[in-house]
Amino acid sequence: MFKLIELPYSTNALEPVISEKTISFHHGKHLQGYVDNLNKLILGTEYEKMPLEEIVKSSTGGIFNNAGQILNHNLYFEQFQAPQPEETNLPFGKLGAQIENQWGSFQAFKEEFINKGATLFGSGWVWLSAQQDGTLVITQEPGANNPVTKGLKSLLTFDVWEHAYYLDYQNRRPAHLNALWNIINWETIEERLLR
Ligand code: MN
Repeated sequence: MFKLIELPYSTNALEPVISEKTISFHHGKHLQGYVDNLNKLILGTEYEKMPLEEIVKSSTGGIFNNAGQILNHNLYFEQFQAPQPEETNLPFGKLGAQIENQWGSFQAFKEEFINKGATLFGSGWVWLSAQQDGTLVITQEPGANNPVTKGLKSLLTFDVWEHAYYLDYQNRRPAHLNALWNIINWETIEERLLR
């Protein structure tokens, strides 16, 4: 049985970047729905006792869609913290150095990430991941996909399903993607890279 993760902050902690209403629906209704669906679908199957990431790597159809969405949302919600001054809220350590090395500047990295999120057609996720050789890559993942299905290590993600931003930003997806940078907890992202 999978359980809804507890948020590492209160539902209003990310305001004004993400409203309490959006967090309440997104975590309490959307993510809860994926958890409930998956628990029903895996009953009595080979997936019942499997860790979440293994289910995502080995399933298809409804089980994959619900498991993928749980994995994606867990990583998404756990990577945020209350708003910080944007000029000092930057990647550091191994991740900061690798971004600098590949993109030349954090600004250039950020622009590519926002652009890939803004141009993803329909519902999905934009991801920063690490490849086996340690190099970083930004990918557009449709629907419920997670970069682990391609052998990548998933690090940072923005949800571009409309439910993630419509209450606060309506159709302005790029405005939402531009606003998220001061709530990223880069310590969490660095830990994922070093894991
Ligand atoms: Mn979502």
